[in-house]
Amino acid sequence: MNICVVGTGYVGLVTGAVFADLGNDVICVDKDANKIAELVAGRMPIYEPGLEEMVARNMSDGRLAFTTDMASAVRRSVIVFITVGTPPKADGQTDLAAVADVASGIARAMERYTVVVNKSTVPVGTGEFVREVIERHQTRPVPFDVVSNPEFLREGSAIEDTLRPDRIVIGAPTQQVAMSLLELYAPLERPMIITDVPSAEMIKYASNAFLSTKISFANAIANICERAGADVTQVVKGMGMDARIGSAFLSAGLGYGGSCFPKDTSALLGLARQAGSEMRVVAAVIEVNDRQTGVMLEKVREVVPDPRGKVAAVLGLSFKPNTDDIRESPAIKVVEGLKALGFAVRVYDPIAMDNARRELSQVTFCEDEYGTAKGCDLLVLATEWNQFRALDLKRLRGLMKSPVVLDLRNIYEPGDMARLGFTYRCVGRPAVKPT
Ligand code: NAD
Repeated sequence: MNICVVGTGYVGLVTGAVFADLGNDVICVDKDANKIAELVAGRMPIYEPGLEEMVARNMSDGRLAFTTDMASAVRRSVIVFITVGTPPKADGQTDLAAVADVASGIARAMERYTVVVNKSTVPVGTGEFVREVIERHQTRPVPFDVVSNPEFLREGSAIEDTLRPDRIVIGAPTQQVAMSLLELYAPLERPMIITDVPSAEMIKYASNAFLSTKISFANAIANICERAGADVTQVVKGMGMDARIGSAFLSAGLGYGGSCFPKDTSALLGLARQAGSEMRVVAAVIEVNDRQTGVMLEKVREVVPDPRGKVAAVLGLSFKPNTDDIRESPAIKVVEGLKALGFAVRVYDPIAMDNARRELSQVTFCEDEYGTAKGCDLLVLATEWNQFRALDLKRLRGLMKSPVVLDLRNIYEPGDMARLGFTYRCVGRPAVKPT
């Protein structure tokens, strides 16, 4: 099948690569000429495990190409995916400018019946909006349909998630239109739900808001555990064993970040207001999350009461492990908070350093974990990369000026840390001092 994917970011590039790998002819389009030039030269604009190999294989087999020329890409395709960003506006509502821009471009280029598939995360009603934009910009009437096919991939495991999604959601105006997408996804042999366009759009927001709720719920429980002498890691383990609850996304830490959960929860709140409903549960989820960095910085004050002139080392900058994405990263907020408290801050991340360099100023970028920890008065674990789990903690302690660790992802064992001579604070577990 000839397919075009417009917007070659985290979603578009992975989607295009996987569809090509399934044997389709795919052209990925982006307005960013530098990004397309890099891709044509075989260099990945993002880090995603397995992506580079998959792109290279399909490019050399002639099934995957990259261009800035949307018109010609649309003309040769039977299905056109929209995978551009849908960032929040200042008022929290979704900015659909890129979606509208692409829809009008598709309208001008279209020469025969085309299925336009919206994969970007968009408010309910956007399918209708895209239809109107296309109709308004067509120079002559060419038939088309608009389908909603929300994306659920997670950065860091995007290829695996795209190849083996829990479900594929297809919101289409008719069964017949849904068939073209069914055919495309059939080789994956995964569960599919065929529904109407607004319901498909809502499934995405409701799912992300629910996952965010699990995270904020765990963090709210953690705050109580800490005061009550309970261990949140045991509590969520016990909760998650209940099949009705499930353990995924039920862990206490620094709160959620990234380019999806913060914007999608705010957008759902906006949608609810427009529909005349307050949706206070989501408002509370956002409030708990917004407070979480501050709660963590209070812990800093407990272990280092006078941070002026002191050095803090921060391990992990991406919003979660296995990605270079620092958009809305809580780790970055922690770095800014430490700076504001008066610390000199040293930072390290296995993959996100280039992006962090563009975002952070007045910090020292280090080569590795041990170099970061050298001479520090406080070490903060902000993103739970696997390599941080396997650190030589004895060596680390020897390098630090004061052996104080704030583990914001609960990856170390309090008893072990005390035995190793650390003053150790984590999230929702009793504090420990060196034994
Ligand atoms: P991104 O910022 O990584 O990529 C978007 C791309 O679209 C950029 O390369 C940009 O240059 C391009 N673009 C913007 N306007 C364009 C235009 N007019 N013509 C051509 N290209 C244009 O964004 P992303 O993270 O891939 O997210 C895309 C959408 O998917 C968003 O709605 C997001 O909410 C949703 N989503 C993202 C994830 C994720 O984990 N990143 C997961 C599920 C859904």
